[in-house]
Amino acid sequence: MSERLQATPRVLCVANQKGGVGKTTTSINLAAALAGLGRRVLLVDLDPQGNATMGSGIDKSTRQRNLYHVLIGQATIDEVAASSPEGGYQVVPANRELAGAEIDLVDMDDRERQLDQAIQTSGSKYDYILIDCPPTLSLLTLNGLAAADGVIIPMQCEYFALEGLSDLVNTVKRVHHNINPKLNLIGLLRVMFDARVTLQQQVSDQLQSHFSDKVFETVIPRNVRLAEAPSYGLPGVVYDKASRGAKAYIAFGQELIKRLEQR
Ligand code: ATP
Ligand code: MG
Repeated sequence: MSERLQATPRVLCVANQKGGVGKTTTSINLAAALAGLGRRVLLVDLDPQGNATMGSGIDKSTRQRNLYHVLIGQATIDEVAASSPEGGYQVVPANRELAGAEIDLVDMDDRERQLDQAIQTSGSKYDYILIDCPPTLSLLTLNGLAAADGVIIPMQCEYFALEGLSDLVNTVKRVHHNINPKLNLIGLLRVMFDARVTLQQQVSDQLQSHFSDKVFETVIPRNVRLAEAPSYGLPGVVYDKASRGAKAYIAFGQELIKRLEQR
């Protein structure tokens, strides 16, 4: 049988400390794509903005308990997880309360391992656990990286994207050495791509020559359907399956499965 029946899930962080680069769009659509491909998926919203929660069709303001309570040890993942009504995956929701975790965690032992410990106790019923990180290299993001096997970095092919990238790659290396030896950079995902823009093509070429097979083959185009979908509480791949954006994220799910499961 395929490896996907393994007992431990693959835990993947979607991270980039730059804001607005497509982390949440990637997390939601990858979750829905993997679920559509028959995988059991949990999406952890590690951002107090709660965009992954809302974009999965779950009202962040009505959930009494959420990731905050998990991180401070007052709830388990199973107790707070909610089903995305149309997405086919489970979500650990977040809202503004999560910002308080930064402060509460400071005085705790193993403060960067709280998410990891929570996943160890209740994550075994999933094939994939995706973590949507906030646009910071904060204690929250550190919890994500400490819990993960791999990091997916969505990026726009712009000049300044490369500058921030080295900080993130160095952070991943530091976490790998000091906190979590399982952690690997899985790949860079080019998002909001427009091949007609010469600079984007140039940056894309540069990325490939520098990171070679760490750059995913799939490219996510700029596509308005992906941007519209969250206002309906739907992943883009559910909102308009036939759109270029949806097809690209489904292809990305397939590429990821190929990389991770068929070794
Ligand atoms: P933050 O750093 O605030 O968490 P983020 O990195 O999670 O942001 P998103 O929220 O996913 O980024 O995307 C930023 C904006 O770009 C959103 O309005 C989203 O709908 C839009 N967007 C993301 N990907 C695409 C795409 N491929 N085509 C068109 N619009 C996109
Ligand atoms: Mg986001």
